[in-house]
Amino acid sequence: MANILLVYPAPGEFKERRFGFSLDLLYLSSLLKQAGHHIINYLDYSIETFDMEKFSRGLDEADVVIFELDSFPLKRAINIHHGEKLIREMIKRVGSGAGRKKKILLFGNDIALGGYSTFKEGGSFRENRPPNPPTKAFDLEFDYALAGSYSNSINIIVESLMTGNPPPELRPLTDLDQLPFPDRSLLTPYAEHGGTVDQKPGLQKSTLIRTSAGCLNNCIFCQRKAWHKKYQAHSIPYVLNEFSELKKHHYRNIWITDDNFTYDLKRAKSLLKELSDRDLTTDMKIAVSSWTRIDAEFLETAKKTHVSIISFGVETANQEIQRFYRKKISLRRLSQLIRYADKTGLYTVGNFIIGAPMETRATIEETFTYILDTPFDRVNVKILDYMAGSELYESLPPEKRGVNRHIFACKENGLNEFPLEELRGKVKDFLEKFRQSREDHLEEKISKYGPPYYLF
Ligand code: SF4
Repeated sequence: MANILLVYPAPGEFKERRFGFSLDLLYLSSLLKQAGHHIINYLDYSIETFDMEKFSRGLDEADVVIFELDSFPLKRAINIHHGEKLIREMIKRVGSGAGRKKKILLFGNDIALGGYSTFKEGGSFRENRPPNPPTKAFDLEFDYALAGSYSNSINIIVESLMTGNPPPELRPLTDLDQLPFPDRSLLTPYAEHGGTVDQKPGLQKSTLIRTSAGCLNNCIFCQRKAWHKKYQAHSIPYVLNEFSELKKHHYRNIWITDDNFTYDLKRAKSLLKELSDRDLTTDMKIAVSSWTRIDAEFLETAKKTHVSIISFGVETANQEIQRFYRKKISLRRLSQLIRYADKTGLYTVGNFIIGAPMETRATIEETFTYILDTPFDRVNVKILDYMAGSELYESLPPEKRGVNRHIFACKENGLNEFPLEELRGKVKDFLEKFRQSREDHLEEKISKYGPPYYLF
């Protein structure tokens, strides 16, 4: 049996006040423990600051070190660059090449995007081949790279690394219920109360849960299909059991990390209804992400089940840009739904993008006006990002992509008419205007319904 160190390298940037940890490493931990392996430690450098001594102690004990290389939109940011540094440190300490005894396993969504050079070990190449071999982006020494959707194969790979026998052909996970619950015992109280490297804990006991993965919509900027080709969902009994565990362990704030919780709206409603009927969420506040194709019945069920925050991908108020993004949203209907959500005390977040190729000052204003006319409690406005794995990114000529994992659209790179700084300035000014316009209403709402999540 192997001693295993789990490492989440630090993200390239820290997004403000975002609760999170690596749910995927926690799933791996449960799978590895089921097979009798020993987890030495879980080092998540989005939560704790890097400590060389602690990292070295972990390396001394480890037979296998698993580095999770994450991807951009789902959690915090890409973390490959800190990953490269950590692997270099590890090589310095434990040696390099075929003589190296301690194994390096790369894992995560970034692997599916490709760009990992193979490492020659003992005369054989080991690589989980990405679907579209891309330009070589990183020069890392590693023994195996396992894409996130192959987490079910972790024990096969660890055995192969320990014995030196090549692994059989792997199959991606097809039934999410085969996964045990994530190993939340690895999390410190600091992490579970919202502490990160740049923020002190301020939340009551909080966690993440995944009830489904994937979304079959075709938004042109979305990179999720690079790793979730299908929509897969846990059975309702599985999710109810996991929520029973969360209730037993007194979790108060629950972030459902599904790519699109309401992709199967009927299932989403049934799940929420079962949770409510079984009284599993009474003391919780739940946050979900959703597309806009929901209805009033969903909002009512969500409210009854103690969903507190619903985050919507709206992107733009301009029809032509909507078509370009491949979004089909009835803005009028969405406004009505947001108004209804507001009346019931649900908090809503609107996510918008500016910087499409046909964007003009007028279309940006159109989007900003729509936001101000709709009672969202919070908005995120991002600059269009061509992210590896998305159709937008794939549409760029290779010389434009280079080895970048993402490219912000701007005049400088010919992707729209606005200098990057101008776009950033517009976002900043608008968010301040939005904040001021909502201040009083938000205060009233909080005093009536309580804050959107449980604070200390
Ligand atoms: S609805 Fe959301 S998750 Fe689905 S493709 Fe569009 S952006 Fe991606």
